[in-house]
Amino acid sequence: MLGQMMHSPLLVSSILRHAAAYHGDTEVVSRTVEGPIHRYTYAELSRRAQKLANALGRLGLENGDRVGTLAWNGYRHMELYYGVSGSGLVCHTINPRLFPEQISYIIAHAGDRILFSDLSFLPILEVLADRLKDLKAVVIMTDEAHMPKSEILPGLVCYETLIAGESDEYEWPDLDENTASGLCYTSGTTGEPKGVLYSHRSSVLHAMTCALPDVLGLSALDSASPIVPMFHVNAWGVPFAAPMVGAKLVMPGPRLDGASLHELFEQEGVTFTAGVPTVWLALLDWMDSHAQSFTSLKRVAIGGSASPPIMISRFQNKGVMVRHAWGMTETSPIGLAATLKTKHEGLPAEQKLALQAKQGRPLFGMEFCIKGADGEPIARDGKSFGSMLVRGPWVAAGYYNSPISPAHAAEGWFDTGDVVTMDADGFIQIVDRTKDVVKSGGEWISSIELENIAQAHPAIKEAAVVGKPDERWGERPVLIVQLKPEMNFSRQDMVELYTGKIPKWSIPDDVLVVEELPHTATGKLLKTAIREIVVKELQV
Ligand code: ADP
Repeated sequence: MLGQMMHSPLLVSSILRHAAAYHGDTEVVSRTVEGPIHRYTYAELSRRAQKLANALGRLGLENGDRVGTLAWNGYRHMELYYGVSGSGLVCHTINPRLFPEQISYIIAHAGDRILFSDLSFLPILEVLADRLKDLKAVVIMTDEAHMPKSEILPGLVCYETLIAGESDEYEWPDLDENTASGLCYTSGTTGEPKGVLYSHRSSVLHAMTCALPDVLGLSALDSASPIVPMFHVNAWGVPFAAPMVGAKLVMPGPRLDGASLHELFEQEGVTFTAGVPTVWLALLDWMDSHAQSFTSLKRVAIGGSASPPIMISRFQNKGVMVRHAWGMTETSPIGLAATLKTKHEGLPAEQKLALQAKQGRPLFGMEFCIKGADGEPIARDGKSFGSMLVRGPWVAAGYYNSPISPAHAAEGWFDTGDVVTMDADGFIQIVDRTKDVVKSGGEWISSIELENIAQAHPAIKEAAVVGKPDERWGERPVLIVQLKPEMNFSRQDMVELYTGKIPKWSIPDDVLVVEELPHTATGKLLKTAIREIVVKELQV
């Protein structure tokens, strides 16, 4: 027997309609590329998203057409999220930090019909000029006063002019909730970038779950500032979750350095923020060197790569609770969040920190299966490890326009490529990515564990561990560090640092000091390039 409840599709447009109706005077504040701070409300965001939807219709875009964006976190990008997806088109966020060839590949592969870009990315557009000819339009997200004159791209369209004459009334279509809403390409550290095509249903369910207290814990009392870019897996769902609960939204625009972030957080009473460890490292270092504190910030979500325990302590010493979370492009992204349970309240600080430094517990909706080398589920003892497979309503079942199917998709699971342990409470800890783990003499050494220990050393700014080829052992770990100004760090210092903390055979063979560690377009350590440095410098 079927239930007798109404069928209301879960649609991205319904989030904005809700925010405009019941949180209409809540602010959306953006630091702009042009310079000044821009502020308006959810009601105004809704009106302008409707103008944009009308403009897109006038340009002849049809259901399912892809609309590319090259943009920072800001109000016009929010209008695109809703105006594009809400009207049945697909919002394809492109990471401007990728190489131009990759951007060009992604635009062609996605079959974008039109491209919206912030002023900052004009140089990229000019490099790609030849390949943008087939697009219906290239729209610069600014007003007439700031429109650039480009000889290479004479037909650029101004965003404000595009929407100016449009009506702010638009009937959001009653789409099937499984209609595609967004497209995001993986960063390509594991081969050609692959497109993950989100649906309205997956985006809404993911956002609802992320807002829950033990995940991002968002509410109408929050001033939420996603620092993770909107081109990095939809800024982890915050652009959907914040209007859903009526939180004030504070967008950082292009300025992501420590001083700018601190100023924005203080000015706008930010209570919640989210971003990758690299950004937080810069902010914490800037605050320490300028003797600054936070007056409003309460929670910070850290993910994308492992948060070193020392980073969690540094935030908590400033009165800010850390939510360590795990995710990937293919999982929308959030699947795990590390919040403690009541029974952990009495634990000594060190043990609490160890739990918070794990990647977290499964969110409701996501199922996890950890398979050992024998293909059987591992013991949930926090020590045995295996490959992490996931499934759920916001996990990719395939890749856009690609014959490649996510590993294990046939059995209904997605293989994350992460090697993990799970304890009896469900806390999962990443030992490593399958391809980054150092395999030494049949034993596995976790690069993350070694990096976390190094990261706590006072001389070290940032640390990476990779395996170097070794005739006898197959691979041996090497530590590569960027030092803080005027600091030294020798091989002897390294041995002292690790002795007593890890088994002797896991201690790296060598340490290399470099000027700067290479990062991916999403701010993660770029292990392929680091391996090349090691091979070159150590001549292995
Ligand atoms: P790519 O797979 O191309 O690197 P993603 O942004 O999808 O791009 O990265 C997902 C991967 O990032 C995960 O599989 C995991 O290895 C890593 N990751 C994400 N969050 C964390 C975290 N909190 N701790 C450790 N690793 C993480």
